[in-house]
Amino acid sequence: MALGPDATVAVVGASIAGLRAAETLRGEGHTGPVVVVGAEPHLPYDRPPLSKQFLAGTWGLERISLRAPDKLAGYGLDLRLGRRADALDLGGRRLELDDGTSLSFDGLVIATGAAPRALPGAEDVEGVHLLRTLDDSQSLAAALGEGVSLVVVGAGFIGAEVAATAHSMGARVTVVEALPVPLGRVLGDAMGSVCAALHADNGVEVRTGVGVAGLRTEPHAGGRRVTGVELADGSVLDAEVVVVGIGVVPVTGWLQGSGLELGDGVVADDRLFAADDVVVAGDVARFTEADGTSRRVEHWTNATEQGAVAARNLLAGRDGAVPYRPVPYFWSDQYDVKIQVIGHPSPADEVVVVDGSTDERRFVALYGREGRLQAVLGFGRPRQLMAFRPLLEAGASFDEALAFSPG
Ligand SMILES: Cc1cc2nc3c(=O)[nH]c(=O)nc-3n(C[C@H](O)[C@H](O)[C@H](O)COP(=O)(O)OP(=O)(O)OC[C@H]3O[C@@H](n4cnc5c(N)ncnc54)[C@H](O)[C@@H]3O)c2cc1C
Repeated sequence: MALGPDATVAVVGASIAGLRAAETLRGEGHTGPVVVVGAEPHLPYDRPPLSKQFLAGTWGLERISLRAPDKLAGYGLDLRLGRRADALDLGGRRLELDDGTSLSFDGLVIATGAAPRALPGAEDVEGVHLLRTLDDSQSLAAALGEGVSLVVVGAGFIGAEVAATAHSMGARVTVVEALPVPLGRVLGDAMGSVCAALHADNGVEVRTGVGVAGLRTEPHAGGRRVTGVELADGSVLDAEVVVVGIGVVPVTGWLQGSGLELGDGVVADDRLFAADDVVVAGDVARFTEADGTSRRVEHWTNATEQGAVAARNLLAGRDGAVPYRPVPYFWSDQYDVKIQVIGHPSPADEVVVVDGSTDERRFVALYGREGRLQAVLGFGRPRQLMAFRPLLEAGASFDEALAFSPG
């Protein structure tokens, strides 16, 4: 059933997916109450700069704000910030909030994102940082500086970006990665090695194929402070600061027992419905793709696009909803290189560099599987990369893509 114009819509999560959902509701002419519940006290802000310009101090708070306060006010949202949804009563169409109040709704958007994994045993150790929120980024920035010894645990995108930014701030950085090749499981070993080479080019050491055995600490202010990181091969790295970047988990704990299907995310159909009148968007959403694959994506563009589609589908109701069929895109900024990916690369894909060269760290590489173009990776080549997007959208063959010249 489509939602009426006076229906109350609750949006849980006030970051990019929740905000896009709320503003799309208004953009589509929804005049009923839109209540946005967000656990953080801040107005919606952008996360990607938290490991880049905001961490480095080159961008301030205004620059990472997702919408100017007057624009946000113009949407007429009922913003409940610093407030957490604790439980969902699906049948009763009601949320329980952490201040003991409840909130009735006709339609619900779940956009609670993801939270970083902690290093077991390191939770209360001073000097050990996770990076997800504005507060995390500010606290890390305050700990970094000229000559500070930093160990980054995990050479995924966040870890690599933190390493690059901290290096630019004068920190002495070492990265530890348990896999033999950083990002090998995302980009394959050949292209993962090129990512690793970016660190080496900039004099940042990456210790690969070795896990963290534990932390060295010393007593400090009634608690413990980190002094080093012990690796599984017995070596010890000095560390005044440690950043843990070992992945994230979708925030679904508050939905336990609600009746929604949970499994590494909130499980939804190809139209982003998790139940009648309940849609999901962003890092928390495990949606169904055209070929029946279930997928959860942890990238910004997916969160914005899903927020908009989820809101439109919620208004239209299940019968009038459209499938979510994105052309996936994400980027990462490391040192002076913008890394961009469109499509879904897989480590087993055939990878061919078609433009530039990996030695120069400026190139475009195509990923092919089962005779089709699956993904395109660019290092410092935004225009050439995007030239391949229509081919990806059209489901071009790998041969056709290899013969194409990006100009
Ligand atoms: C440091 C960093 C750098 C990044 N860089 C890039 C990049 O370069 N490129 C890229 O593509 N992506 C990047 N990303 C990923 C991108 O930021 C995420 O994909 C995006 O933020 C997901 O948006 P979201 O709205 O789904 O979830 P989130 O941004 O995680 O927001 C979810 C919100 O919901 C709130 N919440 C959780 N539970 C509750 C509850 N029970 N009640 C109320 N509120 C709740 C949370 O507090 C949070 O504010 C980066 C992420 C980080 C952390």
